[in-house]
Amino acid sequence: MTLKARAAVLLRLYKRLQEHADELAALVEREHGKTRTEAQGDVAKGLETLEYAIALPHVAAGRVETVSRGVQCRDERVALGVVAAVVPFNFPFMVPFWTLPIALGMGNTCVLKPSEKVPLTMTRVCALAADVLPPGVLNVVHGDRRAAAALVEHSSVRALTFVGTSAVAEQIHARATLLGKRVLALGGAKNHLVALPDCDVEMTAQDVVASFTGCAGERCMAASVLLIVGDQPALVDRIVAKARALRPTGHLADGNPAGDVAPTMGPVIDTAALLRIEDAVARAEAAGAAVLLDGRVAADFTGRRAESGGFWIGPSVLRHQSATDDAMHREIFGPVLSILHCSTPEEALAVENANEYGNAACVYTASGAAAEYFSQRFQAAMIGVNIGVPVPREPFSFGGINRSRFGAGDITGDAAVEFFSYRRKITTKWAVSAEKSWMS
Ligand code: NAD
Repeated sequence: MTLKARAAVLLRLYKRLQEHADELAALVEREHGKTRTEAQGDVAKGLETLEYAIALPHVAAGRVETVSRGVQCRDERVALGVVAAVVPFNFPFMVPFWTLPIALGMGNTCVLKPSEKVPLTMTRVCALAADVLPPGVLNVVHGDRRAAAALVEHSSVRALTFVGTSAVAEQIHARATLLGKRVLALGGAKNHLVALPDCDVEMTAQDVVASFTGCAGERCMAASVLLIVGDQPALVDRIVAKARALRPTGHLADGNPAGDVAPTMGPVIDTAALLRIEDAVARAEAAGAAVLLDGRVAADFTGRRAESGGFWIGPSVLRHQSATDDAMHREIFGPVLSILHCSTPEEALAVENANEYGNAACVYTASGAAAEYFSQRFQAAMIGVNIGVPVPREPFSFGGINRSRFGAGDITGDAAVEFFSYRRKITTKWAVSAEKSWMS
């Protein structure tokens, strides 16, 4: 198929999935536990990457140039073959759609392995795509790490994307590279937010709480460390108050327009996550951190857990004395915010620069000069100014650096066009004469 024809197929897929967006969001909500609004966001953001891929004929067109007299060079992007995608549990729709639209649009076929924790949404997507995509173009294989390992080893798989924890990302990147495959493996994160003394207290508190509690903190873009420059007691108080006001999903506000409008938070994914979060808070406390808000004992959440058997835990806010505390470094992947006070902007930057990840960082300030100063000095690859979840939208590409990303390039946007294809370069020279020998 031509690129143009493939884009037309993607447009049909987009329409089909959009018609079923509510059903897909309900599946995400059911199998993952996100709130309804978050599940709708998961589907909407995934569909945005498909929207972008529909424009590939404009974005990925080749070039042609006369490089010397009578000699022309042109390039065209060629599919790699079979692309495998191994994805995590935390965005059952959006993260698979980081890979699928551009990989398919560039002419590859895909084998997707969803997380064994959320197998339903992508199974349904595959069924919906069955009479839109040509047979065999999109395949879903279910399973755990063994299924992922089989895809890495398979000789037909030419390229692989992985999204998950850093240890696995590093291992998969190393193995696939050894086998001569093209691989991009996104890992975990520890994202730092810096609040400067001139920040807008109310807006910053709102944004910080949304960032560390949204999707119950199970986002690679979630805030996990807040570095407060100077003394800002009002900011800390507002953050704690707003986080304390969160209620478990299904509380009065949910689906009940007449009820109160308390913001809600969903459960985490499983027992292992619950124990990891509880353990992180306990260890921080033992190391001397003050627990300003303790999600382990948040009555609405523990009550819901007891009554439903679900994995409910409230948000926690920790105030550390030292940048070396374990919770300041380790990815917790839950609704926990670590706060550290810094005397100067440089001290805050030094903490952010020293962390081993490099996914996202954000500065809250009213000053453009300060925003620029931090934007140029954060080590993270995705930077926010007064935005705690600074996800770059298409055509900008998504991806971190350091232990948040193994391999070159980004997974979406224009960078992904390069990843999912190679460039064929064709150089031509023709003898031009009056004699029309080609007529005979
Ligand atoms: P995970 O690493 O446990 O699993 C991810 C995928 O890899 C799953 O499909 C799983 O079946 C498979 N897998 C697990 N262990 C494996 C192994 N040893 N060998 C091969 N495959 C294996 O991650 P998770 O708990 O599902 O997801 C949470 C993690 O994903 C967090 O660390 C989060 O930061 C990260 N994440 C990163 C990004 C990003 O853009 N950088 C985006 C989303 C999530």
